[in-house]
Amino acid sequence: MARADTSLTVADLRRRIGEAKGSVDERARRLLLAWFDTAARGVGAKPLARALRDGTAAVQIAEALRSDAAQPSNAACAKGCAFCCILDGPDGGTITADEASRLHAALSPLAGTPDGRNWHPKACPALDPATRTCRAYDARPTLCRAYVSTDAGACETNAAGGSAPGAGLMGFHLDYLSVLTLSRAAMTGIAPVQTYALAKIAASAVRGQDVETALQSARHKPRTLDDARRGLSSVAAARG
Ligand code: SF4
Ligand code: SF4
Repeated sequence: MARADTSLTVADLRRRIGEAKGSVDERARRLLLAWFDTAARGVGAKPLARALRDGTAAVQIAEALRSDAAQPSNAACAKGCAFCCILDGPDGGTITADEASRLHAALSPLAGTPDGRNWHPKACPALDPATRTCRAYDARPTLCRAYVSTDAGACETNAAGGSAPGAGLMGFHLDYLSVLTLSRAAMTGIAPVQTYALAKIAASAVRGQDVETALQSARHKPRTLDDARRGLSSVAAARG
């Protein structure tokens, strides 16, 4: 049975992060503890618990790492280039509860208008089919911010089911998934840390469904986060 956040102290939460067990990555623990020690200044346990539960902590850590990370100097990414927004299945990728809510809020006003699927049947519904730009750019999830390529042709090949080199996720995306996994472990018995399917949230929003319905239809099973993190870890290990 989950207990109310109000019974928690800041020290309780920090101890939980420090002692969480399971498939926990020690780099993720260092990142989350550093985030916690900064975020906890002058703040009570409730907002800290909320940031762990809705994934805001993981997103803020990823954003800090992204701003420090060097993009490839020969990146081919450009406005209107959208092969990376052709999704490889109906899920579309793992996003946090806060990312899901913000994506839904950005797309809801566009309900009923043509979407990315009018350009390509597997494109993200957040895409503008005419300009091939993201209609939720400021609210796009960490997954979208992490994808980069040195070759748009490789992205086109991969979107068609190929495996051309030169395109992929930057390293901070694995940290994001690992911090989310640790947040879940630290919040065990307090509140579930859920993840959601990017494509399903976007499709629900442009269909005009309210946020609760969208979240319910797009909520992942718990193992989806573990599978996503393990899959990315094995790719990173194979690349050395
Ligand atoms: S990741 Fe690939 S498809 Fe996406 S903007 Fe960059 S080059 Fe274009
Ligand atoms: S949210 Fe935006 S950037 Fe991300 S896949 Fe959809 S259209 Fe592309």
